[in-house]
Amino acid sequence: MEDKTLLFTGGSILTMGEEMTQEAVVVVNDQIKYVGSMEDCEKVAGSNYEKIDLEGKCLVPGFIDPHVHVMMLGMCNTWADVSYPSVKNMDELVTALKQHGENLPQDAPIRGFGFDKRQLEEKRYPTAADLDKVATDRPVQIMNGSGHCNVVNSYLMESIGIGENTADPDGGSFGRNQYGHPNGTIFDSANDYLAEKTGVKPGNHGPNIHMPDSDDNLQRNIAEGQKLLISAGFTSVNDVQVTKQEMESYLAARDSGLLQLRIELSYLSKYLEDIKEMGINSTFGNDRLSMGSLKLYADGSLISGTAYMNYNDAERSQGYLFHEPEEFKSILIEAHKYGLQTLTHAQGDGAIELVIQAVEAAQKECPREDMRHRVEHCGLPTKEQVDRMKALSIWPIPQPQHVYLYGNGIANAVGEIGENFSPYGWFKEKGLPLVLSSDTPVAFPNAFEAIYAAVTRDTAQGNVLGGLHQLTLEEALKGYTIEAAKAMHKEKTVGSIETGKLADFAVLDKNPFEVEEKDLLDIEVVETWISGEKIFTNTNI
Ligand SMILES: [Zn+2]
Repeated sequence: MEDKTLLFTGGSILTMGEEMTQEAVVVVNDQIKYVGSMEDCEKVAGSNYEKIDLEGKCLVPGFIDPHVHVMMLGMCNTWADVSYPSVKNMDELVTALKQHGENLPQDAPIRGFGFDKRQLEEKRYPTAADLDKVATDRPVQIMNGSGHCNVVNSYLMESIGIGENTADPDGGSFGRNQYGHPNGTIFDSANDYLAEKTGVKPGNHGPNIHMPDSDDNLQRNIAEGQKLLISAGFTSVNDVQVTKQEMESYLAARDSGLLQLRIELSYLSKYLEDIKEMGINSTFGNDRLSMGSLKLYADGSLISGTAYMNYNDAERSQGYLFHEPEEFKSILIEAHKYGLQTLTHAQGDGAIELVIQAVEAAQKECPREDMRHRVEHCGLPTKEQVDRMKALSIWPIPQPQHVYLYGNGIANAVGEIGENFSPYGWFKEKGLPLVLSSDTPVAFPNAFEAIYAAVTRDTAQGNVLGGLHQLTLEEALKGYTIEAAKAMHKEKTVGSIETGKLADFAVLDKNPFEVEEKDLLDIEVVETWISGEKIFTNTNI
């Protein structure tokens, strides 16, 4: 086959590499062959190339999100939107679900995504009694924006076997009425009840976001999730909660040619023994689909009020842990000894402490370099913990959009320390990596909403939360490209526009360095390229 050579020029080129700006880029097939002056690029490109005129637009490396849930994004996008401000109170919640149900087959479950009790006028969790107003003869289910909590109607409660005497499982709980009976609100590992007979049951290894569905719908979820990410300029992502359901679905999508995104997979810790048994490690896979690391859960969620904190939370004094501390540590240590990078969900300082102690013990028992063990979210560490994370080379992976979308609600719940939610300023001060991510669908894929939030620390309500944690624009852009690639050990192949890397790009309508800070939110992705192929064109521009 003949080589296909492209020469990109005629706009701003921001490489995120040593030299931030360059004049032109040569791509041969799926790889970046050369980056430099127009004159040099023309020489490298030879006589037979196609010129891609950027027409004044801006070429950047494709965005990389190191913490996403692709299939859950696709799934939630087909559910009713019950997030704020679409839904502001219980009446609107019921109406939104009813309307959504009208377009579904008669007995299909009516499901909604994204409620946040702190943003509901009633300031309480919906219950089965609320959802019974939607339907009493078919399942009704709504998922909290964090994925850590669901509410179901009485019909669904009964059909999945939650009754008066159902006890709380390890790592989870039920909301309860005045008599102590489950009231339809389900937290963390208790969501395994929703998996019914055929679904995945993570047990106390994580919240259940893997709703059972037909193979066709699971492929549709990949297609939908992927489309939203690619149209937002993302080219590589890390799916951080992979079970049998995700693995089988991604393999099928790869084989049918549906899969376009590069996906790094992090298996849920439930599978550690199987992974070891089979001898799989993080060199398995290729540029499109690869097995990367192990995902652990330490605590619950700040949004749903189940994070594990050492100080007094107004709502729940301690939140909770998914595992007994010793059990958690032994899983992390085993994974480390086997050579797997670990990604631990930890929000409260009590949970973050557990990760730090586990990594410390693991490195003591079996010193290994460059593991890049990660703390996902890392919402409320103490400053002293940030010091120790630096000493142990632990990577924090926060989500600036959560500051923007949920920051005020969290700050109201935890008090003064809420200023230091996702404390990028402390990470910067101590020299820790600065990485951006979305945890989509907790926040929708939107690189410039994330970058704007990281740079300003603005919230959607218009105040600044913790101004000392603002990043510079360059730090934020690198945090969603090259630094995100490093968080996945992928910096040799993606994350910057440099010779030898894969030709993955986003084309932006404007150069972010040339707009007012407030206008960062309006920057649009015009095109997305993966492996030297244009796979998305924004037709709205
Ligand atoms: Zn997540």
